Amino acid sequence: MSNTPIKTFNVREIREQFPALRQQIYGKNLIYFDNGATSQKPQVVLDAINKFYSKENANIHRGVHYMSQKATTEYEESRKKIQRYINARKSEEIIFTKGTTDGINLVAHSYGELLKPGDEIMISAMEHHSNIVPWQMLCMRKGLTLRVVPINERGELLMDTFEQMLSKKTKLVAITHISNTLGTINPVKDIIVKAHAVGAKVLIDGAQSIQHIKIDVKDLDCDFYVFSSHKVFGPTGIGVLYGKEQLLDSMPPYQGGGDMISKVTFERTTYNELPFKFEAGTPHVAGGICLGKAFDFLDSIDLKAAEEHERFLAKYAEDTLDTFEGVKIIGEAKNKTSVVSFSVKGIHPFDIGTLLDKQGIAVRTGHHCTQPLMDFFKILGTVRASFAFYNTKQEIDTFVEAFEKSLNMLK
Ligand SMILES: *Cc1c(COP(=O)(O)O)cnc(C)c1O
Repeated sequence: MSNTPIKTFNVREIREQFPALRQQIYGKNLIYFDNGATSQKPQVVLDAINKFYSKENANIHRGVHYMSQKATTEYEESRKKIQRYINARKSEEIIFTKGTTDGINLVAHSYGELLKPGDEIMISAMEHHSNIVPWQMLCMRKGLTLRVVPINERGELLMDTFEQMLSKKTKLVAITHISNTLGTINPVKDIIVKAHAVGAKVLIDGAQSIQHIKIDVKDLDCDFYVFSSHKVFGPTGIGVLYGKEQLLDSMPPYQGGGDMISKVTFERTTYNELPFKFEAGTPHVAGGICLGKAFDFLDSIDLKAAEEHERFLAKYAEDTLDTFEGVKIIGEAKNKTSVVSFSVKGIHPFDIGTLLDKQGIAVRTGHHCTQPLMDFFKILGTVRASFAFYNTKQEIDTFVEAFEKSLNMLK
């Protein structure tokens, strides 16, 4: 930020800013280990939501009156904040969406319109359903081929195979930066260089990376980067698609309606310029403004220290759980963070999740929207503990005790 405040990382101070973490569930202090599904919100975001709807609520980009102009300014300021945070060249490259899923669907439709039968889309074996299904639907519509880069037993991409699969036919590589199920951090920079060498564009699914590692889209040189606000300490219902300006300019609009037009007649409509061309209808105004507050909050934190803390938590949890008989860690990539997924021999993940819940511990159980990945590991699902920087070693110790207790009850 402009006046370069000193950034610190103190877990106790950070926790104080998250009221949701200070509650009891079934009489036990909440331990929130479901950050992969959604993050809790800091006080600055909660205050901003309240303030917007109490005093500032107005539609944007259309009113002459004071409130509308103020809301418009704040919404556009937020766009600029996000641009600076991810180091995009221009704020026109920041498109507000409903979230990661919406951003991927936008690209699948609009960039997809530029593709021809026989062209190929490449994804990986560890994608979230929202980075699989839109591409399958596009391939059906346009006669394209969907190709899937395989992984090894540790949950790492087979990079040699990836390189062999690339060809002039590859038009887009759509890949997750960090796997929501395995915690694997994919070598996206390398992937981008190799994909660009054959003329393919690259979409990075950043739903699990924006909240854990510093993102610089210029340095990555990705063509698209998508994420959801709700996983990065902002409200639900809003997200971001970053795209390179030239590419976005070359793409037709996704949805038609208000705000995305320049001039409308019954014969012909011309479209608005970026970013509005891709933002039809009244957007989530409060969401956009409050997502900006979430980035203000992140800007106040020493993110390097936060990242190290999260890596430590994941490693500590993994090493501790690994000592239990019958526990199998799913996802043992060399480069991983923030997520520990595991299965227990002879016990259904749901049963463990239910018993942990009764002890105030929130984890996720199931396939985590990655069914093909479950098929690969030949399991029905996992128990997943996913961490944010506000989690502590103490919480992991309590979680492990509760897990042991649950095991004894189920055996
Ligand atoms: C959560 C998630 C998504 C989908 O995000 P939504 O907020 O549900 O649109 C996509 N990819 C990954 C890796 C995710 O973790």
